[in-house]
Amino acid sequence: MASKDFKPTEYKLRCFGCGKEFTRDNHLLSCDADHGPAFLRAEYEKKQIEVHKGARGMFRFGDWLPLRRVIENRALPVAYRSEGLASHLGLSNLWIVFSGYWPDRRADMRTCTFKEQEAPPVLSRFADNSRILVVASAGNTARAFAEVCSANDIPLLMVVHEAGLKCMWSTKPFSDSVKLVAVTGDADYFDAIRVSGMIAKLQGYVPEGGAKNVARRDGMGVSVLAAVTTAGRIPDNYFQAVGSGTGGISAWEAAERLRADGRFGQVKMKLHLVQNHPFTPMTDAWNHGSRELLPMDEAEARRRISQISAHVLSNRRPPYSVKGGVYDALADTGGHMYSMTNAEAQLAAWFFEETEGIDLTPAAAVAAAALKRAAEQKSIAPDEMVLLNVTGGGQKRLFAEHKINYLSPHTTLRRDEVSEEKVKRLFG
Ligand SMILES: *Cc1c(COP(=O)(O)O)cnc(C)c1O
Repeated sequence: MASKDFKPTEYKLRCFGCGKEFTRDNHLLSCDADHGPAFLRAEYEKKQIEVHKGARGMFRFGDWLPLRRVIENRALPVAYRSEGLASHLGLSNLWIVFSGYWPDRRADMRTCTFKEQEAPPVLSRFADNSRILVVASAGNTARAFAEVCSANDIPLLMVVHEAGLKCMWSTKPFSDSVKLVAVTGDADYFDAIRVSGMIAKLQGYVPEGGAKNVARRDGMGVSVLAAVTTAGRIPDNYFQAVGSGTGGISAWEAAERLRADGRFGQVKMKLHLVQNHPFTPMTDAWNHGSRELLPMDEAEARRRISQISAHVLSNRRPPYSVKGGVYDALADTGGHMYSMTNAEAQLAAWFFEETEGIDLTPAAAVAAAALKRAAEQKSIAPDEMVLLNVTGGGQKRLFAEHKINYLSPHTTLRRDEVSEEKVKRLFG
């Protein structure tokens, strides 16, 4: 869509905890009422979605995204009906929604994961660039925001732990508006979140908000919108690898909107969410029937995280118990949680590349492994419609076909040296 044709989306926000409605959205992240943690949810004026074919990237689903301004993006996932993997698994109605780089299928998401779908609506939801956006990330989110902020010259400060640094690449030059802070000294994703929280409180900065941000969730939900508007119906089953579970919540929210739309059937899309053994806090809690995560000491969590191959699935504080979070999404859809080993994921990645013809990121391989298990154990019937969210892929192909630039940290902080004062001195 040309800028002159752009119109902001009409929507309201509603609290999942108390039902309170907010008609003026000023990057609101939570309800002001005195109750336990609860998500806000966007309620769009248009109840039936129109796909705007001429719009930029994912903005073609703009009816159900909280947009206020035009953002350059290519964050459009591609949905198609599988033949190769489907016949290998004995499933007759398997659909794949792919976020990544796959020129043959016209997928051109250069950061190679569905995190690229979070950045455009989050950035569009701000009316201007008056504050610096702060993003904490295990790597993929930071890369996605860096790419989209670079393309639009939007100020961004990213906080990444050591293992996330190798994720800071692009096929294009980074803009000067993009700054990177590294947290070192055996730091993990949670340390990056802590530091970003300290910076975001300072004058002139604004936190992205993570799972609480409706723009982020509805951006991830575009995977389901793309699949359903292509296939014509809501799938019976949805498979995705989760670390925070935000994508799972988003898929649930998108499927509910599509049910309310009325044209895509009334199926309750069952969530099959997958974690990487041995770091499986949500799978463990769900299988214990618990709304709270089970206690695990920090050293044990760090030890387990160090053993998983899909590093992006290492969130220690996922929005599981919060009202409108992962627990509610699973409960409402009669969902399942899985735990898959590195070896199972690696095998699934190999099968996927053989049968579909594109490489998977480790997290997407974890999801493919769970689908393989569910098909083999016949816990899904062969004719049920299944949607596999390939949350990331094509990186091997991208690296073979393009020159890659890496971003080096502008500031480095040791985990054990971090304090409010120090952060204020450096960034205030
Ligand atoms: C972040 C990420 C996930 C997990 O997403 P959730 O936020 O937990 O839903 C899965 N796959 C890839 C490639 C990711 O980057």
